Amino acid sequence: MRAWILDKQEKIEDMPLRLEEIPTPDPSDHEIRIKINACGICRTDIHIAEGDLPLKKTPLILGHEIVGIVDKIGKNVKAFKTGDRAGVAWLNHACGSCKFCLSNKENLCPQSTFTGWSADGGYAEYTVLDGNFAFHLAENLSFEEIAPLLCPGIAGYRSLKLTETKKGEIVGLYGFGPTASYVLQVAKHLGLEVFVITRSQKNRDAARELGADWTGTYEDKPPALLDAGIIFPPAGNLVEFALSQLDSNGRLILAPVYMTPIEIKDYNHIWLERSIKSLAHISREDGREFLKIAAEIKIKTEIETFPFEKLADILPLVKHGKIKGNAVIKIA
Ligand SMILES: [Zn+2]
Ligand SMILES: [Zn+2]
Repeated sequence: MRAWILDKQEKIEDMPLRLEEIPTPDPSDHEIRIKINACGICRTDIHIAEGDLPLKKTPLILGHEIVGIVDKIGKNVKAFKTGDRAGVAWLNHACGSCKFCLSNKENLCPQSTFTGWSADGGYAEYTVLDGNFAFHLAENLSFEEIAPLLCPGIAGYRSLKLTETKKGEIVGLYGFGPTASYVLQVAKHLGLEVFVITRSQKNRDAARELGADWTGTYEDKPPALLDAGIIFPPAGNLVEFALSQLDSNGRLILAPVYMTPIEIKDYNHIWLERSIKSLAHISREDGREFLKIAAEIKIKTEIETFPFEKLADILPLVKHGKIKGNAVIKIA
């Protein structure tokens, strides 16, 4: 099969990935093999390629927003049959027996492996993984539409779950990119009131169109205190600001993987049982719940599709924010 291989971390502009012919993997007894149709590009791929995250295996195939069709299964696989549509996200495997796995927190399993980081990912024509860690995909969304749902979509959904908001409560979204657009659509479906706080007029208009109840800039005062907030940009200086807009018992979720330093100068902003929680990885339950809702509401995505052979040219464009919405590589 053809696969984009990374074996040395370098600036993405120096093209650290090369397209090679390698043996097609064969599934073991508990694994499925997926003939990959498309794979979304995530900024995490660039962080791994450039060395912001350590290299966990070499050579490595990046890519963790995989969609395709099961073409071969191991003899012990029960969850899939050949011909099924299947998706693979960031969580590639978890141990199943640690205290986190046993308490419905497999996203925190210290033994877990991650697609396109510690296990080979989707910038290839085929991939294999434990059949219990792949997702069944609805028929009413295209492969290209589903691809970005597998990372920003599921992660955004988990951040919304972490807010513990109930129908009628108000959640504020700070920053409005593709991830927030998925959260907004699901939050409205769940009966929440959604405020979107973002600098860009264009993004405020987009949020309005997708059903936001109120939009404003960081200078505007929301019409009510928020029950919860989610911060999407890695800007630590937003934390105290967002806390100051929360009601008593308000929950603030930090969605980014890293953040600039956080400083809380006024204790009043966190007093009255307000809390801060970060988001880390995703669980299979998050994926199953989110993909079901996404298909039910036929979630709107903004994607740009590129041919497999062009991947190395597209990664720098993603890095520099030159792509509108989510970039998806079409493989088959
Ligand atoms: Zn990702
Ligand atoms: Zn575990």
